[in-house]
Amino acid sequence: MSIYFDNAATTSLSKEVLESMMPFLTEQYGNASSTHSFGRSSKAAIEQSRKIIANQLGCKPGELFFTSCGTEANNMAIKCAVRDLGINYIISSTIEHHCVLHTVEEMNKLEHIHVEYVKVLPNGSFDLEHLASLLEKANDKTLVSLMHANNETGNLNDIQKIGELCAKVGAFFHSDTVQTIAHLTFNLKDSKVNFVSGSAHKFHGPKGVGFLYIKHLTKIASYIHGGSQERNLRAGTENVAGIVGMAKALELAYANLTEERERIDNLKTYFHNQLINEIQDVKFNTNMENSIFTVLNISLPPTFSNEMTLFNLDLKGIACSGGSACSSGSNLGSHVMQAMNHPSNRKAVRFSFSKFNTKEEVDTAIEKIKELALISA
Ligand code: PLP
Repeated sequence: MSIYFDNAATTSLSKEVLESMMPFLTEQYGNASSTHSFGRSSKAAIEQSRKIIANQLGCKPGELFFTSCGTEANNMAIKCAVRDLGINYIISSTIEHHCVLHTVEEMNKLEHIHVEYVKVLPNGSFDLEHLASLLEKANDKTLVSLMHANNETGNLNDIQKIGELCAKVGAFFHSDTVQTIAHLTFNLKDSKVNFVSGSAHKFHGPKGVGFLYIKHLTKIASYIHGGSQERNLRAGTENVAGIVGMAKALELAYANLTEERERIDNLKTYFHNQLINEIQDVKFNTNMENSIFTVLNISLPPTFSNEMTLFNLDLKGIACSGGSACSSGSNLGSHVMQAMNHPSNRKAVRFSFSKFNTKEEVDTAIEKIKELALISA
């Protein structure tokens, strides 16, 4: 049986979440737009889920819009901001997830849009002094899109501080929070962020459902055209079971956050320390002082066969990743590692954890890495 250390790519669906979804996959199958009792029951489940999520994140239910995934939520925020808020200046970074990076690149093709990228510090966080200097030219036609936790390294950015810098000049702020929703606590009401995104499959919810938070008074129009679902912003028959499952998963995550965070954080620290003890010349791309507790990105010594490392680990029953799951078909290497000047003769490997991982699994992974080190030497 393989050991799963790729929870930043996706997590397993928890049993309680599946149970909460089952009625909506079986007998309660009404279309939420139908006015009969079947439809009304689906509609009620959606609105109840919206309330649960809003309550957990400290916002109003009316500020949440369900989407099919985090990618869609991020596309919606950026494209609608450009189209509906008159944006002509975007500040983003080169270490965003591809769904932000490529969307910003698309926007940059528009004649009236100017894009600047915030410098990334050697520790993987954004250079906020550079951001402040880029914001000197900003105004209420500016969109800042900067992620909360990087999905490859887990390194965190201070979105409260970034939001304050944006608010000073009236810039709109979007943050890709797909890796931090259900992992860190939020009080969106008091935040200076206009848009944040979430994706259920990152926190033991189902795949195929996410949300976009849009702060009250940030006025955008329809992203997907069609029916009047999601208050006319996102047409399409709702994924009722998915939405119910996402709310349940978020509720469970926050109910158990303190103890799960401590346990997973200890596991990550143990992995980190064992790597230092057992693997000569290992380096870390994750800043242990300021990163999400679920991610540890390491840099193996040059003696490891670069291309074969992940394949060999998989053969040995360790499922981990070289970067974002969405770019696993690409052979260009990680844009995040490039931005951090990661040496090309080393292989970056991301181990990402969940509540289901154990110390024994970490010990096994260390043994397997040691075996690979012997073959490679
Ligand atoms: N943003 C970040 C930071 C992610 O890690 C991911 C998923 O890997 C996404 C966005 C995309 O989310 P989804 O898989 O729901 O489209």
